[in-house]
Amino acid sequence: MEADSLKYRRQREAMVRKQIEARGVSDSAVLAAMQKVQRHLFVSEALRDQAYGDYPLPIGDGQTISQPYIVAEMTQALQLNPDDRVLEIGTGSGYQAAVIAEIAFRVYTIERIHSLFVKTRALFDRLKYHNIVTRYSDGTTGWSDQAPFDAIMVTAGAPDIPPILLQQLAVGGRLVMPVGDQHVQELIKLYRDADGIHQTKMGGCRFVKLIGEHGWHE
Ligand code: SAM
Repeated sequence: MEADSLKYRRQREAMVRKQIEARGVSDSAVLAAMQKVQRHLFVSEALRDQAYGDYPLPIGDGQTISQPYIVAEMTQALQLNPDDRVLEIGTGSGYQAAVIAEIAFRVYTIERIHSLFVKTRALFDRLKYHNIVTRYSDGTTGWSDQAPFDAIMVTAGAPDIPPILLQQLAVGGRLVMPVGDQHVQELIKLYRDADGIHQTKMGGCRFVKLIGEHGWHE
């Protein structure tokens, strides 16, 4: 890991306490990961001093790094175990994948924008995230040769959950994804057991579009 300044460490402590714990996220592994991952390294230098604010930030190519609380809430919803293999659709800045990688065994993450894919792959190498595997493709078709996954997180919104992702979810697996129209979505959590799929709604959210074969069309 790169040298972490005291200034950013203090901002991170305040972020975890005031934005995340205060809103009810209590999973100790998630709180520890949010405390550890240096969010300011996942945004451009010009935005570093805003990295621990209670809002999403632009990461280029019209995309965003999600608000810290949303990252924590979605990560907690996956109920991760240390030996879990996790699929993330929408690598973006790489921040969400890094948070998951602190908790789970391995993260497989897919990005459809080439410039973001290249930039974030280089960052994972620089920060020595050896348990993050990256791929440049349309994530709406999943990653069939690495399936099934213990958990799947989609960090972009679509009108429906792509059925192919459900096929790639292990029995006992969890999936979290924003579902709705192009402006506002509901965060959906699914749990798959031997009886089938069980769905719960977690509340409203606002994500960029999931664009691809089983998402929105460009
Ligand atoms: N997890 C990201 C982070 O921590 O920065 C959030 C990034 S942003 C909210 C969503 C990302 O999903 C964007 O980078 C976008 O290009 C990507 N995306 C959209 N549709 C996709 C698809 N079909 N396959 C892979 N990535 C996709």
